[in-house]
Parts: sequence; C-alpha cells; structure tokens
Amino acid sequence: MRVIRARVLGFCAGVRRTVDLALDAARGQAGRTRLFTMGPLIHNGWTLRELESLGFSVLDEENLPETLADSTTVIRAHGIGPETRRQLLRRGTKVIDATCPKVRKSQLRARDLSKKGFVVFIAGEKNHGELRGIRMFAPNSLVVENREEAFHAAKTLFSKNKTAKTAMIGQTTISAPEYSAVCAAVTQFFPDLTVYDTICSATLARQEALAGLCTEADALVIAGDPASSNTRRLLAAAAERGKPAWIVPDASALPPELASFRVAGLSAGTSTPDALINEIEQAITML
Ligand code: SF4
Repeated sequence: MRVIRARVLGFCAGVRRTVDLALDAARGQAGRTRLFTMGPLIHNGWTLRELESLGFSVLDEENLPETLADSTTVIRAHGIGPETRRQLLRRGTKVIDATCPKVRKSQLRARDLSKKGFVVFIAGEKNHGELRGIRMFAPNSLVVENREEAFHAAKTLFSKNKTAKTAMIGQTTISAPEYSAVCAAVTQFFPDLTVYDTICSATLARQEALAGLCTEADALVIAGDPASSNTRRLLAAAAERGKPAWIVPDASALPPELASFRVAGLSAGTSTPDALINEIEQAITML
C-alpha cells in the first residue's frame, strides 16, 4: 500500500529535549542512583516502556515515597507545580527539569500575573498535566475547558468583582478557534481581558500538515498514543475533513479496514518517536 508522510510529524522540539535529557540521565546515572520521572515523562506508552527498560520508575505526585535519597528525578515535559518541586527536593532527589521551555514560560507568566493581582483564566483540559502544573503557579486561577465554562466563570467573577483585572493563558495544544471562543466569552464581561498567545506552533504545524495530507490520501493513520491530547486533535481534524482515520499506538494495532484504501496518509503527534513512526510506516506498506 502507498504511504504519504505528513510534511511535519512526530516529536516536537520540547518533547525531543525532554526525552534526550532523560536518556542522558540514564547514561550518566544508571547503576549509581535510582532513576525516576515525575509523572509519565511524555504521553507515549512506547517511549515510557523504553524508559522503564533503562531503569526509570514513574513517581506519583499524590503519593511520593518518604525519601528519595540517592536518586535522580526527571521532570516531565508538561511540568509540575512549585509545591511538588519543593516536595521532591525535600526528599533528597536530584531534580533534572525537562519541562518544555514553552510550558515553563506559561508557568512563570501565570505566577507573575497572579502576583500583580490578576485573575488568570486558563483555557484547556482541566485534568491535563500541563494545566494542573500551571494553575499551581496562580492559586486564584480559573480553568475553563470551553466557551460555556468561560462564560459562567466570567459571569460569576463579574457578580463578585466588576473591576477585576483579568488575563488569559491557553494550553499549548488548544486549537486557535477554541481559544478565540473562550476569550470572546470572557470579554463579554471583562473587555480589558489581557490575552496571551500561548498556542505552540509545533501543534499548529502538525495540524496544517495534516490538512495538506487530507487532499492526497484516502485514509489517515495518526501514529501515537490516545492519551496524547495533540494526537487526539489530529484525529479530530481528519474527521472534520471527512477522512477515515485511526490513532495507531504501534504497528500491531493497524486497523484491518485500512487495507481497502489505495493511499494512506501518515501523521503523528508531538510525542511519537521516530522509531515508532518508521515501524508503523513499514507495516502499512506491507498491507
Ligand atoms: S507541543 Fe510545544 S509546548 Fe508542547 S512540548 Fe512540544 S514544543 Fe513544548
């Protein structure tokens, strides 16, 4: 079967840096100290199994061990809150901060805005690690998942404080139309809302490349993990264009229906490693 790769796909710079820092730690520390990642390092099961094979264990921030002496802990790409970092240091682990620099920028921006007395709206998925971390930097922040939630949160705030200073930060993977809709809902009550453009261009680049792919391919394979938010968004973008599409976590999970199409398009989320993309591409060509 013929396969066309998206012009841009797979690891973004932030995830590549995070994984490289973990691999460097494994090379430098293996056998000498215990190795941990704070939460799953990235949203990709294949990579997590690789890290496990190198000796990494995953820490749960709700349930940290009493001591982490003689260990090294790599912070995940989506970052953590300041209190979790303090808890790690208190337990004696050496911390390697592999937070994506763009996420770090949002964390620091949230902290600074909060210190200046702003109520910070954060648009995105409440339970996503990135947002859970950012909101810890702005204790008075309001996380809103969509336009309706933004409207109600702004309305409630307006009823309590009509002159509140407000600002908006978005999850790096939120789509531009969703972000605009959320901002518009808040400006109905707070026209002076300060909006920060926090959408990561890596996500946009993959979405645009996928749009191009949809014009050439009959069906699409999105290599990646369903737990990855930007991978799910690629699937949704293909569905919006009426293309049959599947998220495929590894070559053994290719859907049998794919064989009935002539040309397959191949895209991949920002947390999908090159080796996995190559393996899946190879498997499609054999169909
Ligand atoms: S998608 Fe963007 S914000 Fe997210 S890890 Fe990659 S570079 Fe960083």
